[in-house]
Amino acid sequence: MAEEPTTGPKSPHRVVIVGGGFGGVYTAHALQKLTAATPLDITLVSRENYFLITPLLFEAGSGVLDPRHVVSPIRPLLTTTHFIEAQVTGVDMDRRVVNASHEGDPRSHEIPYDTLVLAVGGVTNRSIIPGSEQALAFKTLADAIFLRNQVIDLFEQADVETDPARKQRLLTFVLIGAGLVGVELAGELTEFLHNICRSYRHVRYEELRMIMLEAGPRFLPEMAEDLANFAHKTLAQRRMDIRVNTKVAKIDPGSVTLGEGENIAAHTIILCAGIGAHPLLEKLPLEKQRGRIVVEPTMRVKDHPEIWALGDCAFIPDSVGKPYPQLAQHALREARLLAANIVAAGKGEAPAPFVYQSMGTMAALGHFSGIGRVMKVQIRGFVAWWVWRTYYLMQMPGWSRRLRIVIDWTIALFFHNDIVKLDLYGLEHPLRAQKTPAERPGPPTP
Ligand SMILES: Cc1cc2nc3c(=O)[nH]c(=O)nc-3n(C[C@H](O)[C@H](O)[C@H](O)COP(=O)(O)OP(=O)(O)OC[C@H]3O[C@@H](n4cnc5c(N)ncnc54)[C@H](O)[C@@H]3O)c2cc1C
Repeated sequence: MAEEPTTGPKSPHRVVIVGGGFGGVYTAHALQKLTAATPLDITLVSRENYFLITPLLFEAGSGVLDPRHVVSPIRPLLTTTHFIEAQVTGVDMDRRVVNASHEGDPRSHEIPYDTLVLAVGGVTNRSIIPGSEQALAFKTLADAIFLRNQVIDLFEQADVETDPARKQRLLTFVLIGAGLVGVELAGELTEFLHNICRSYRHVRYEELRMIMLEAGPRFLPEMAEDLANFAHKTLAQRRMDIRVNTKVAKIDPGSVTLGEGENIAAHTIILCAGIGAHPLLEKLPLEKQRGRIVVEPTMRVKDHPEIWALGDCAFIPDSVGKPYPQLAQHALREARLLAANIVAAGKGEAPAPFVYQSMGTMAALGHFSGIGRVMKVQIRGFVAWWVWRTYYLMQMPGWSRRLRIVIDWTIALFFHNDIVKLDLYGLEHPLRAQKTPAERPGPPTP
């Protein structure tokens, strides 16, 4: 008689989540909770070992908040999830493995999965304007630190510059894109520039040129018109030159050329012109729209039930087929449902569609001002700024980080912005070596 094959204990189902932002971290967190009794084998792979609260990035860029305080380490948040700090370079969908490597280590590792969750977010859209790679981005912690150092460095140079044309170029700041990110950055930047002028004897705020360029007809299209008008007026009063219906034809090192031919010499050009397709997704043979993975309303990929996607990298259709916006408030809610859906699918139950009606949008404008809609109520000025701060403070996981943020904010109320340039690598830093204004060719000075 043939012997019955001996079967060992069944190995737990392997869930691999790629991306440690709002989508990935909240999915892992919710999965941990939902499967506490029957643990899954959950692995989160992300490039950095911290989770960034992007709405607080503006204040990290101005030095109001210590950069470390706008991020939270991932490991303590995810007690039963296996965390791997690595860059995912590819996914072999036939063999069901993720390829990943740690920065600086040429070896690639394979991470096998039964269920894969893609939450890699997006990248700064550099595909619209020729020469976009010359502009700074504002998406990561490194971007915020780099921008702050660059601004302080330009002020140091401008303070001793005797050539008026060169000085003007050093003190010209161009922001491309007047959506939420561009406008919030403009708000914080104008406050920062205004405050640090006090520390430089030969730089007056009136000498600064701050220009915001928007290709579309509307300033801040994400907000109701009267709130957008309030933000427009606030920034204009701070001397921001806002131009809508203004296309940028190209960006060169040290200058921006507009569609009508005008050339603006500027050492600081910041691109806030939307989110582009993540390069990892481009490699995957999955249906995409606007660079995002098309998923069913449940966030599952149609022909690959083992793959799910959420957040900025997913095209999740609402009830009329339009994609949900690429916002943190959506990503974290998608994450909670996606975790529940993975559990439901494991039990053979039907996953539920994602349905969410936003309760509001807010934007900080610096100088204790802001705008927002909460439910149906519109708020502006100091109240909006305070509500904005409190809401995002509570998005930071853990009281230890929240307390540090509150202390930073309190200190900022009483003291001027710090102008210490924490540039530990100096000109050796690869980013700096490319971007230092002194080394940029720039347009010839008349
Ligand atoms: C400056 C700024 C301000 C914002 N303010 C607001 C706001 O006020 N309100 C709001 O609702 N939304 C805001 N947003 C949008 C919000 O941040 C995003 O919608 C949200 O972060 C999307 O979450 P996500 O998890 O999809 O992507 P992300 O948060 O971008 O996370 C993606 C993660 O994947 C990791 N990753 C990427 N590629 C790889 C790879 N190949 N291998 C491994 N890991 C990888 C990244 O390092 C990152 O940790 C803001 C965005 C920015 C840039």
